[in-house]
Amino acid sequence: MFFLKLGLHPDLVRGLKAMNFQEPMPIQKEAIPIALEGHDIMGCAQTGSGKTAAFALPLLHHLLTTPRPGLRALILVPTRELAAQVEKVLRDSGRFTPIKTAVIIGGVSFQNQLRAITGGAQILVATPGRLLDHLRQRNFNLGRIEHLVLDEADRMLDMGFLPDIRAIINQLPRERQTQLFSATLHNEVEKIASFAMRNPRRIEIARPSTVAEGISQILYPVVQGQKNDLLVALLKSTEMRSILVFTRTKHGADKVARRLEQNGYKVGVLHSNKSQSQRTTAMENFRHNRIQILVATDIAARGIDVHNISHVVNFDVPRFPEDYVHRVGRTARAYGVGDALTLMDPSTELQFVKAIERFINVVFPRAVIPNFQYQNLPRFFWKSGDSQTPGASPAQRTPSNVPTRPSVGLWHTRSTQGLRRRRFGRR
Ligand code: AMP
Repeated sequence: MFFLKLGLHPDLVRGLKAMNFQEPMPIQKEAIPIALEGHDIMGCAQTGSGKTAAFALPLLHHLLTTPRPGLRALILVPTRELAAQVEKVLRDSGRFTPIKTAVIIGGVSFQNQLRAITGGAQILVATPGRLLDHLRQRNFNLGRIEHLVLDEADRMLDMGFLPDIRAIINQLPRERQTQLFSATLHNEVEKIASFAMRNPRRIEIARPSTVAEGISQILYPVVQGQKNDLLVALLKSTEMRSILVFTRTKHGADKVARRLEQNGYKVGVLHSNKSQSQRTTAMENFRHNRIQILVATDIAARGIDVHNISHVVNFDVPRFPEDYVHRVGRTARAYGVGDALTLMDPSTELQFVKAIERFINVVFPRAVIPNFQYQNLPRFFWKSGDSQTPGASPAQRTPSNVPTRPSVGLWHTRSTQGLRRRRFGRR
């Protein structure tokens, strides 16, 4: 068994077998031996690459092989959903061990969290804000922490958690192992490394700005006011099993969800104005296919590990290219396949699309839905990546003769696995 060869405790290997993890993924192959040796690690890996197990397994191994009571490991994560998922990986892989984990997140009772800690938890998975609240109330202390993991560090920075992270790290013993994982490593992340880590070993599994190979990416130009209609038309014309729709704002998410419901779809909504129980219910309904569509803000981009999401739809183009990478990483998990569809209003969002295309070094094919009544579409550019070469405006055409000879384009056709594409136009 490959995992045994990496040096992991046999009880963990049994847990992995029960999870049907046959062999380590590349980041696990690289990170686990280094972490088992006790080094600090700075890991950069694509979403869906298996990084949770890469840090969770060595951590469980250390706790198992040097049994001591008390809180010994702290995993900081940006969102409540991610906390739940990290806890699940710890629980599943540690099912044949006595090690317990407590989750410390906002939106749920302090008392239950305290009970989990006094009940013998050795690992804490926490979002920074709630953890600091507990620490300020002196509910427990972190004086015995031996392992710190900063998961999705770039996201925690984006969410403004840097001061909280500093305050928490100041309460940890200096003698500890620190692992930092991030899908993108930029200067700010390096700054955390400089104060939180000692001589970290660097692991880079994929360039931070890559999208998993199994993801087909397509752009649908459409004016903002028609995005809802286009989305419904897309849903009707394509076989989509399980769809995650991203909007930029909470209000936008509610509006999109309402429109989809009016069209007869079963929809859940996930954003930070929802209560924790609403968020959990939406996630569970989506995970168990009780709803076909989940509409979410970027809060969900990092935290969702639902197998078989067939389509990610960017209802709004994300403002930061990194967010695009994370959003579309929700499909094609664990080296599967999926489609990422982006609706772009050319008059306001082209600049963001171009930034994403530069970032991931891809030019998205542009697609149209035949028979869709495109209105007021400003002159947009059918020749991919060339904003200087505008094509003719579909607004001037009848729906049945939307661009006939664009430079690069796709007809959108119905298919079972994503979109089957028929190229057209000049080659
Ligand atoms: P992560 O990047 O940690 O969110 O993991 C992405 C997905 O890969 C999750 O659904 C994991 O359950 C799955 N996964 C992680 N490691 C393995 C493995 N060694 N074999 C099979 N699936 C895995």
